[in-house]
Amino acid sequence: MSMPSTQWTFGRRLRAVAGLRCPECGAGRVFASLWTMNEPCPDCGARFQREQGYFTGAMYFSYGLGIPIIALLTLLVYLARPNWRLWQDVLVAWFLFIPLVPAVFRYSRVMWMHLDHTFDPVIPDQSDTTT
Ligand SMILES: [Zn+2]
Repeated sequence: MSMPSTQWTFGRRLRAVAGLRCPECGAGRVFASLWTMNEPCPDCGARFQREQGYFTGAMYFSYGLGIPIIALLTLLVYLARPNWRLWQDVLVAWFLFIPLVPAVFRYSRVMWMHLDHTFDPVIPDQSDTTT
């Protein structure tokens, strides 16, 4: 496994999140396809799923991303169709949100990993040496 070549700065962290890159090296692509993650990082070998249920934490980001987007879409539907009822606005907003689900899924996982690795980076030489 290669060590991170440079120190993490806020800007570097933001670029890695925006590019869906590894939270440890900043280079490896986290996703192999729309829904499938690389495991481990193709560049540095860091494991993305650090433990069972690790990505439960990504739900916070999924919520944080999804709710404002749906609220904004609801507002836009309301402005376009002011005589509709609120439940109709929300229903249409949910349908408009569906194409954004993959992006929210991907970014919420990557944001979660970067937050986690900011406070708990991979410690070198932690390899399993049990015999
Ligand atoms: Zn990596």
